[in-house]
Amino acid sequence: QAEKQTLGFQTEVKQLLHLMVHALYSNREIFLRELISNASDACDKLRFQAIKHPALLEEDPDLKVQISSDEKANTITLEDNGIGMDREDVIANLGTIARSGTSEFLKQLTGDQKKDSSLIGQFGVGFYSAFIVAEEVVVETRKAGTAQADGVRWTSTGDGEFTVEPLEKAGRGTRITLKLKEDAKEFASSFRLRNVIQKYSDHIGLPIQLLKETEEKESEEATQEWETVNKANALWTRGKSDIKDEEYKEFYKHVAHDFEEPLTWSHNKVEGKQEYTSLLYVPKRAPFDLYHREAPRGLKLYVQRVFILDNAEQFLPLYLRFIKGVVDSSDLPLNISREILQQNPQIDSMKSALTKRVLSMLEKLAKDEDKYQEFWKEFGQVLKEGPGEDFSNREKIAGLLRFSSTQEDEQKVSLAQYVERMKEGQDKIYYLVGETLAQIKSSPHLEVFRKKGIEVLLLTDRIDEWLMSHLNEFDGKEMVDVARGDLDLGELDSEEDKKAQEEASEAKKDLVERVKKALEERVSEVKVSTRLTESPAVLVMGAGDLGVQMRKILEAAGQ
Ligand code: ADP
Ligand code: MG
Repeated sequence: QAEKQTLGFQTEVKQLLHLMVHALYSNREIFLRELISNASDACDKLRFQAIKHPALLEEDPDLKVQISSDEKANTITLEDNGIGMDREDVIANLGTIARSGTSEFLKQLTGDQKKDSSLIGQFGVGFYSAFIVAEEVVVETRKAGTAQADGVRWTSTGDGEFTVEPLEKAGRGTRITLKLKEDAKEFASSFRLRNVIQKYSDHIGLPIQLLKETEEKESEEATQEWETVNKANALWTRGKSDIKDEEYKEFYKHVAHDFEEPLTWSHNKVEGKQEYTSLLYVPKRAPFDLYHREAPRGLKLYVQRVFILDNAEQFLPLYLRFIKGVVDSSDLPLNISREILQQNPQIDSMKSALTKRVLSMLEKLAKDEDKYQEFWKEFGQVLKEGPGEDFSNREKIAGLLRFSSTQEDEQKVSLAQYVERMKEGQDKIYYLVGETLAQIKSSPHLEVFRKKGIEVLLLTDRIDEWLMSHLNEFDGKEMVDVARGDLDLGELDSEEDKKAQEEASEAKKDLVERVKKALEERVSEVKVSTRLTESPAVLVMGAGDLGVQMRKILEAAGQ
């Protein structure tokens, strides 16, 4: 085992490397953000493990990241004294992509730089982004707690293979050396480097240090001086007024592993019985695996500023799984585990408070219609899971939903707006579910509503029927499916309408009997109705029948 070995990258890594270098060319400096982000994560992980095993810190307890460059040699070096990796870790982390759905994702990439760069951004390139600027990357690392002789050197030119070999390494942690490509030389310039690092490190909670330039290079090593260039306070612990929007945005990219800026955020300190700080973000774009069961989701959990867990799912309900951010508790025990999180009344009450926090952040966002549309297009379908999952916030969630209607093709109509537009005498919210907008817009069920000028919500998303089965009313108004049961328009029907209906029933008695006979068991009832103004007949579902979408879902599931 302890020898030099050449291994091939997993196919997905090869594909990603190839596409990424091209797609992200005009955004090359982000490799620094990714590497600093990883170094910071590595220090976080070590600090966490050191709670139980203080010996891991050896004689080197001050966690930090040091960066230097050599303009002559055309290299950049990043070194952290974090958790480090052993040979196995290196092969797994820097040779494969473990995320499920990766190959499906890669198939979406087209070679079109603009499209691909935004897709890759959603996916997150991480460590591999080093190859955007480097012709060769060398990673020298030693896992905390292992012997000096157990270090590993990983080397690759990003062409499909990498080598691993044993390495004697004095300090624990990871040193990454990039041999820059000819056209990426600029990053070795200390001026450029400092600039980029400052941009990407201010929000990082540990010192990021740059090598000070010394006039005389004779005495070398002995007089190396490092200068901390960032604030080195965890961003969320600082006062709101002290944090620039730019910093909030950069911090988001770090926690969310996202390239794009967030749509909005909410930063709050809670004091009292429970004390914690939360910083929650709404992303601009949905991740490619929003609907994957095993996709990572949840918040980053800190206790008293010590990183504890990634993807802590217990702090938000499933229908808010797209929210990213951190929660830092002052009173949870430092040795808390995923298992303990699962059944802890304190966590439950934080969850309910954080849920409310997110819902009000969305309410605020909804005041800006354009921005909210952006949000709705990405995450509306997920939010529609809300009423079924979260009974206690049903009305609040309902207020955040947007629908198409007979007056608006796009999903823009809020229930509040609908209610405002209701006709005199109307006391119900009408809706119709179907496959496509074009199809339901020509449905005979809408005829009577058109005639009376009543708006009907038009629902065509897969989840809509399920949503409506959990949303019986809004603002005290019953939600009524116009394709079901007897249509009682209440006061919207004038006396004349009702009289005409009775007369028609009487007059068409024979016809109804004949139709009933002809259709026999295929329908359960034949009735004369005022639903239609033009079409001669329409099929209506019973009030308790399964809807079309539900039937399809069940059929697909083999029921
Ligand atoms: P991500 O950060 O999203 O997990 P990356 O591609 O950036 O993905 O990194 C892959 C993995 O490699 C990390 O999850 C981590 O396990 C490991 N890794 C990367 N950089 C370091 C580092 N400086 N120290 C320790 N482990 C690292
Ligand atoms: Mg990373």
